[in-house]
Amino acid sequence: MTPPNLSPADQQRLDDLYARLRECSTRSVGYPCNQAFDYSDLFRFLEFSINNVGDPFHGTNYRLNTMEFEREVLADFARFSRAPADEWWGYVTSGGTEGNMYGLYVARELFPDGICYFSEDTHYSVAKVLRLQHTRNIMIKSQPDGQMDYADLRETLRIHRDVPPIIFANIGTTMTGAVDDLAQIRAIMDDLAIGNAYIHADAALSGMILPFVDAPQPWTFADGADSISISGHKMLGSPVPCGVVLARKANVDRIARSIEYIGALDTTIAGSRSGFSPLLLWHRLRSLGDAGLRNMVHTCLGNAGYAVQQFRAQGIEAWCHPNSITVVFPKPPPSMMEKWTIAPRKNIGHLIVMPHVTRPTIDAFVADYATALKPPP
Ligand SMILES: *Cc1c(COP(=O)(O)O)cnc(C)c1O
Repeated sequence: MTPPNLSPADQQRLDDLYARLRECSTRSVGYPCNQAFDYSDLFRFLEFSINNVGDPFHGTNYRLNTMEFEREVLADFARFSRAPADEWWGYVTSGGTEGNMYGLYVARELFPDGICYFSEDTHYSVAKVLRLQHTRNIMIKSQPDGQMDYADLRETLRIHRDVPPIIFANIGTTMTGAVDDLAQIRAIMDDLAIGNAYIHADAALSGMILPFVDAPQPWTFADGADSISISGHKMLGSPVPCGVVLARKANVDRIARSIEYIGALDTTIAGSRSGFSPLLLWHRLRSLGDAGLRNMVHTCLGNAGYAVQQFRAQGIEAWCHPNSITVVFPKPPPSMMEKWTIAPRKNIGHLIVMPHVTRPTIDAFVADYATALKPPP
């Protein structure tokens, strides 16, 4: 193999890009991507064309795969999300969106005439998935804090009692970190005597927070979820986007199809899948361990509480849901947006207190916000 031979100009472009990314990474405070990780142990695996095509539990003819590690990652997530022993299935996805798509796909195959209910605060990708799948759907109102409006859900379900509901529950909304209450949703369906129903939990960010807190909101398989999607590059942190989806095995078995060419069960949405991202997740889970994960989550929750205090000390009305690291505040003036990477929506903005968002960073952010509010001298 000839060594790579970039022109000096192209080499310079890479150096410039590297410098720019380095500079940005600590100022990225508005998106839920953990930037604090060290995966240098794994760089040598970039030498191979690894591919986890097909079902991780079935194996494939393509030998350059990491499915053994993928299965260990999935088993950890199954434990975190209280999946029923030997009754779950899953795979490492390209991110939270693919996991949501998978959950909605299983739901639609089970209930072809089902109606999907999701709140106004649901991630923008979900409307797209529902359109792709031609799934009937109804948007439910949100409460001001970002949770689903349960009264509106009840009323809407009551009108459509003859059609199986597919509930798309937010376990941590993107903007405010609100958790839709699975216990309340189940109770409403019981009350209306709705037997056939499916619940998908979109736990993109909070699926890696709630397993490590003392009083989590109900969100797991044990609380009634039928499938759960969690992003890998959010709370855990990864240099490439990835995620995990888990579902009840009996439901998955009904839609599995065998494909002879790859010698695999075609149960996944993507065909070729990264074999590198399962290694990243495995490395992270094994190097931190449950105690390290708990510690990371508690540090972030503590820092989120600290951020709320610091904002309030400046007269800025910030707040945060229980067990959430998303600190919500009124949308900052435009001058703030140039310096800091923030994701605004309507009249609010938020700081997502990930591990790389330290107290000095919070102090600098709050100070800039307070300065931006002051009229020019
Ligand atoms: C980020 C996010 C998603 C999408 O996840 P990706 O990993 O970016 O595809 C879905 N739902 C919620 C609530 C999110 O915050």
